[in-house]
Amino acid sequence: MAQPPKKPLGPSTTAVHGGETRPKLGNSLVTPIVQTATYTFTNTQELRDHFDGKIERVEYGRYGNPTQRVAEEKLAALEGAEDCLLFASGMAAMTTTLFAMLSRGTHVVVTDDSYRRTRQFLNQTLHKYGIEVSTVPCGDYEALEDAIKPTTRALVSESPTNPYNRVLDLERFGEIGRRNRVKTIIDATFATPYNVRPLDYGIDVVMHSATKYLGGHNDLLAGAVLGSRVIIDAVRGMQGITGAVVDPFAAFLLVRGLKTFALRVQRQNTNAQAIAEFLASHPRISAVHYPGLATHREHAVAKRQMRGFGGVVSFEVTGDIDTAARVVDACEIPYLAVSLGGVESLIEQPAIMSFYELTTEERMQVGIKDNLIRYSVGIEDPEDLIADLAQALDRAFG
Ligand SMILES: *Cc1c(COP(=O)(O)O)cnc(C)c1O
Repeated sequence: MAQPPKKPLGPSTTAVHGGETRPKLGNSLVTPIVQTATYTFTNTQELRDHFDGKIERVEYGRYGNPTQRVAEEKLAALEGAEDCLLFASGMAAMTTTLFAMLSRGTHVVVTDDSYRRTRQFLNQTLHKYGIEVSTVPCGDYEALEDAIKPTTRALVSESPTNPYNRVLDLERFGEIGRRNRVKTIIDATFATPYNVRPLDYGIDVVMHSATKYLGGHNDLLAGAVLGSRVIIDAVRGMQGITGAVVDPFAAFLLVRGLKTFALRVQRQNTNAQAIAEFLASHPRISAVHYPGLATHREHAVAKRQMRGFGGVVSFEVTGDIDTAARVVDACEIPYLAVSLGGVESLIEQPAIMSFYELTTEERMQVGIKDNLIRYSVGIEDPEDLIADLAQALDRAFG
């Protein structure tokens, strides 16, 4: 008799057990770090079988490593993807994927409010190689569709976006891609597969900076690309050439970090919601950008498609660039640092961090306000984080 289909495992069970082989080398409970550059073959026949695709095994470090493979299979299980490929960083994942999908004379549409280096890669680097890029406002689906041409190969967006936490209607984005035979790519670093799985909504490719929530401890750099076997194989071929591979130790740290991933993100979701609500009711705060607030312009979409609203809260203080800097400096628990997603809370002012070399006018053009603060909420106790923010606002405006 056929077995009834098994109920899919939950995110925490998948985070702990997904992708893990049993038993492991040396009966180790934990996935070992296979610290080797190359792999040996018993004889020429084994080499032939490998190249003929008759056996599956590793060959050389640039084409994969067993520790890396466990991390990839764990992530694929979490994201509901056929396959996953890891990289040395999130940007390595983004750039290699786009190099694999595009060629001279093709065209990409990207939504605005996205990671600065992604924008630069599209508008400066790819432009140099004869690839055209159009930027459309996030949330304007007519503009998105109008921007598509016969040469368009990819639609690229983040969701939620950095730093304003705009949320894309993934179903609609995916549908526009399919109807126009264009691949859709979502950088879901801010969401993580705990909060949303874009592939479930018909998106073709999901990207992550695994440096952020997936690693989760501010101690590694890695990137991931997930999607169908066909797409990931093409990207893997390009990675074999460009060489931006994750090293075995970073892959080990990622496997370790991923085991607590669902727990951490759950806590970061509730912490961020509490902080967003506190800030929204504070007289010195003029705007809070968090999808979990009913005032957020995509709150309805976010509620429909996300399990939680993420751990980043962006907000604007009443006052100028210096007032915001005083608030940042008066906080005692979060570190002043770039990046996000780790167990430690981090705080930064985009105008004096990622966008420092621009003038105020140039920053306004890309939508970065001087009084904007981005708070990446960690796993500390919410009442401590709120008390700290309250004293910081009191001191800054004192
Ligand atoms: C950090 C980040 C990246 C780049 O990732 P790295 O691991 O730093 O290379 C890309 N997209 C988003 C949304 C990010 O937050």
